[in-house]
Amino acid sequence: MTQSRTVLITGGSKGIGYACADIFAKAGHKVAVTYRNHEIPAALTNNGVLAIRCDISDPEQIAKVFARVEETFGPVEILIANAGMTKDTLMLRMSENAWTEVIQTNLTSAYYLTKHALGKMVKGHWGRIIYISSIVAQMGIPGQANYGASKAGLIGLARSLAREVASRSITINVIAPGAVDTDMLNVLGEEKVKMMIDQIPMQRAASPDDVAAAVEFLASERAGYITGVVLPVDGGLAMGF
Ligand code: NAP
Repeated sequence: MTQSRTVLITGGSKGIGYACADIFAKAGHKVAVTYRNHEIPAALTNNGVLAIRCDISDPEQIAKVFARVEETFGPVEILIANAGMTKDTLMLRMSENAWTEVIQTNLTSAYYLTKHALGKMVKGHWGRIIYISSIVAQMGIPGQANYGASKAGLIGLARSLAREVASRSITINVIAPGAVDTDMLNVLGEEKVKMMIDQIPMQRAASPDDVAAAVEFLASERAGYITGVVLPVDGGLAMGF
């Protein structure tokens, strides 16, 4: 195994975050995950994963997460900002609350998480930050203006930051999943999911493990010269965007 790192993953109770936590824990890393409503399954905690309750839209709770992880495992070396939400509606009906909540949860939380992680990464001359964005950032989907703006914001954040810290061997990258077989997709209903899948060259949704494999690669030692990229994991859906 390569060097064991301290990994923090937000939203690890299910879906993509769970798959990431599983892959990093099995590889022997020290893994902490946050959860909000859904508790972290025993399959992870029995494998040494530290579970911390946190609403990532609250900066005070984020500060407590970092204190707990540092006390248990040491400074965060790999940060995966994964937790996210949707509140879909057409713009003419979009309340200010639907806008603010999605931006706060998906984008502003990444600012807070990064602020906490970065200082120690700079001191340690090593770090990996991965933001889970979406193809919606580049393609757009009607009814997801708030979500698309939040996910596009992560790309801008990553690219400026990548330039700031590249000389310290810290990489900042973005993964842009297409349709992934999780609750977030399935809430759309069978008919809409089928319509999306019909447009995917691979003719299937990604599994959470498909996304976790890309996360694992970008977090690895081997990916040390890759920074500021947006890596689609979408079965070819957003080709050309
Ligand atoms: P999911 O199964 O619904 O998981 C979402 C995770 O985010 C859950 O663990 C949830 O925790 C957590 N979360 C949401 N709001 C939170 C908050 N305020 N504070 C703390 N945790 C919060 O969906 P998923 O597909 O794995 O989503 C993971 C990421 O992938 C998201 O950023 C999403 O935007 C992105 N993505 C998903 C797809 C897709 O098709 N599924 C496509 C592109 C991008 P609780 O359940 O405990 O509340």
